[in-house]
Amino acid sequence: MRIGILALQGAFVEHAAMLDRLSAEHFEIRQRRDIEQSFDGLILPGGESTVMRKLLHDLDLFAPLQQQIREGLPVFGTCAGLILLAKSVEGGTPCFEAMDISVLRNAYGRQLGSFYAEEPMEGLGRVPMTFIRAPYIRSVSGSAEVLAVVDGNIVAARQGNQLVTAFHPELCDDLRVHQYFLNMI
Ligand code: GLN
Repeated sequence: MRIGILALQGAFVEHAAMLDRLSAEHFEIRQRRDIEQSFDGLILPGGESTVMRKLLHDLDLFAPLQQQIREGLPVFGTCAGLILLAKSVEGGTPCFEAMDISVLRNAYGRQLGSFYAEEPMEGLGRVPMTFIRAPYIRSVSGSAEVLAVVDGNIVAARQGNQLVTAFHPELCDDLRVHQYFLNMI
């Protein structure tokens, strides 16, 4: 199993470290030729979704990745990565438009943007959750399912082969969310 990690900007190194600890093979996606090899899953990290969206287009990565996601490539988006997958983005522009979720960017405001919680995630029990200028999901539709809620706001969801968290599991010591993604593949 080989996982491509989008490595244009943001917290991609931390995802690579989690996959190393789970003995999952991975590589960085920085340019078009990186995705000529075959791979079994994709991680879209946290960072700045507006910058990543622009770079995806400028580097000709957008169309081939969107096609692979639409064809069912398993994908895990954290924070900005969640925003990139959403069909509807309040306060921003949709990117891959792959998942039936409606997202609010910078949902917690700029001052209170960072906080820590420990709440249950469907199938995993309580997990540590680090939020950094995070979005949350206002609503899910179609076959998208809610996996976690914090303070009444949806912070994790799944639809088929797509998994998203508004928090950053790659910044905690707990491997279970990454293991959950690997189990989806
Ligand atoms: N606020 C960022 C955005 O809108 C997301 C923050 C993050 O990924 N930690 O893209």
